[in-house]
Formats: sequence, structure tokens, C-alpha cells
Amino acid sequence: MNFQMKKIILLTSIFILSISCASKKSDNTTVDIQKYINTISSEELKTHLYIVASDEMEGRETGSEGQKKAGKYLISQYQKNKIPHPKGAKNYYQNIPAAFLNAKRNENLPDSENIWAFIEGSEKPNEIVVISAHYDHVGIKNGEIYNGADDDGSGTVALLEIAQAFAQAKKEGHGPKRSILFLHVTGEEHGLHGSRFYSENPLFPLVNTVADVNIDMIGRRDEAHANSNNYVYIIGSDYLSSDLYTICEETNKKHINLDLDYTYNDRKDPNRFYYRSDHYNFAKNGIPSVFLFNGTHADYHKATDEVEKIEFDALAKRTRYAFAIAWEIANRENRLIIDKDGK
Ligand SMILES: [Zn+2]
Repeated sequence: MNFQMKKIILLTSIFILSISCASKKSDNTTVDIQKYINTISSEELKTHLYIVASDEMEGRETGSEGQKKAGKYLISQYQKNKIPHPKGAKNYYQNIPAAFLNAKRNENLPDSENIWAFIEGSEKPNEIVVISAHYDHVGIKNGEIYNGADDDGSGTVALLEIAQAFAQAKKEGHGPKRSILFLHVTGEEHGLHGSRFYSENPLFPLVNTVADVNIDMIGRRDEAHANSNNYVYIIGSDYLSSDLYTICEETNKKHINLDLDYTYNDRKDPNRFYYRSDHYNFAKNGIPSVFLFNGTHADYHKATDEVEKIEFDALAKRTRYAFAIAWEIANRENRLIIDKDGK
């Protein structure tokens, strides 16, 4: 083959390659996303939450039999939807030894587990978007079961629905370009231990982890929104990445229409919620993170945080929002820019 010939073949193959790239770019458009947003339903969230926040799970205390039972339910749902555990893991569990859980606060917790599931990206499989929610709660106190339907049963079942939506998209040829790790962390109520363990023992390098979308309590309303549940507090979206802030804003305008409340995003807010849920263990490592939250209410950390009080229309809408944010992060051309210092 002569040089000229080689050149022609080379040019032809570049041309074909660029056509196929261009056609790939048109995948996962607005039309597609709306279809998958719509697969997230309040009925399915309800079915899951009546199980996850039932007395049978005994308040899901870290390391308890009840929590393990809840964990088995989560895994059964991933298996049902044919969503595997991550490559490189033996199963759906990331085991956390008691010694780690007890090191910080001198407690007496048994071993526990994070639970994970994984959808591999089609174009940038090594770039990971984490979607997290804690599945532990505070267990049984004085004979009363604390079911934690909102905290964080709501986020736990949201992850199941989001995963199902991504899996459905993938089945129909619209799988995410980047990989998605669904991470149900343990030990949150004792000090964000499960997410800290993951961040210190990450399955995928943190430098390749492009974002964390964290969900902790999205099924209720607080006093400040007594007249409407059509809102969500958004915390941390602009701390590390102006891209993440823009995505959260635009995705909402385009597809969801919740009132985004930035009250707790204020660096000086005395509640310091930014430091109080699992996304913080990603954010402190420089990973752009956003925390979706409905605020506290009279049943917060009480035995009365029951599934009967969940507003499933609000839970569905906020779950759809989290899905849409993750979809955009996973499918956009460039990974999120990091242009802020996190403070
Ligand atoms: Zn919580």
C-alpha cells in the first residue's frame, strides 16, 4: 500500500468516525429524558417505602438484623431490574468492620455494610457519577421502633427508582455515557461513617469520580413551606463547580419546576447541613456534590417519622429531579468543571 492510499483510507476512516461520533451526540436528548423521568412513579416509591420503613426492619440501626433485612430488599430490587454490583466488587456489599465504625465516637456498633449497584457508562465508563442515600436509621429506643420513613427511607427508595429509570434507558439504547454508582451508605446517623469509609476505600479512584448527588429526606415538608410541598432545599451545588449549579437550575426549569430553596446553602447558616450528610465526604475530597433535602419537621428523629406521613407526590417529584440532575451530569459532553474552592 502506498502513502497516498494510506492517506485516503485514513481520511475516510476519520470521516466515518466523525459521523458516528456526531450521531452518538444526538443520543439522550430531551425527548428521551422525559420518557425516563416519567417512569419514576409515586406508586412504586410507595410500595418500596412501605417495606423499607416497616416495623419488620426494626428502625434499620447500623449493623442490626433489621438493617440487614432492609439491605437484602434493596439488593433484591437491583437483581430484579438486572442491575449488577460494580465490576471489581465481589457482590452488592462493601463490608465495613466494626473497628472503623467505632473509632471516632467510641461506640459499640457491629460490622455493617454499604450497598452498591452499578450501571456502566457507554462512552466514558471510567468516569463515575455517585448517587447516594443512607439506609441506616436509629433503630429501637425504649421499645419504640423508629422507622425513619423520611430519614432516610425516602432517599433509599428514591435510589431504587432512579436506578430503574437508568436501567430502562440503557435497555432501550440510551444508557448513560458515564458510569453510575448507586451507593446506599450505612452508619450515617452515627457520624457519616459509611460514606467516609467509601471515600477512604473507594472502589473507583476519587479523581475519576465526577460528582455526588446525595438524597437525605425528601418525602415531607417543613414549617417554612406549610402551604406547598413543591420545593426542595438545594445545598452545596455551587461550592465546587459552577457547572453543577447551572445544571441543577436548568434541569429544574426544563423538566421539573420545583421551587429551589437555597436557605441552607448559605455558608453562615447555623444548621450547617452542608456538613451533615453523606455528600460531605465526597465534597471534602474536591468532588462536586449536591444535597437534596426537605428540611426538618416535628417528626425528625422521632418514632413518629412514619410512612403514613410521607407525601408521595413530593417524593416522586424530588426523585425525578435527582434523576434528571444525574442524567445531565452523566450524559453531558464534558465532565463538571471544578472552579471553586469548596468554601
Ligand atoms: Zn438522614
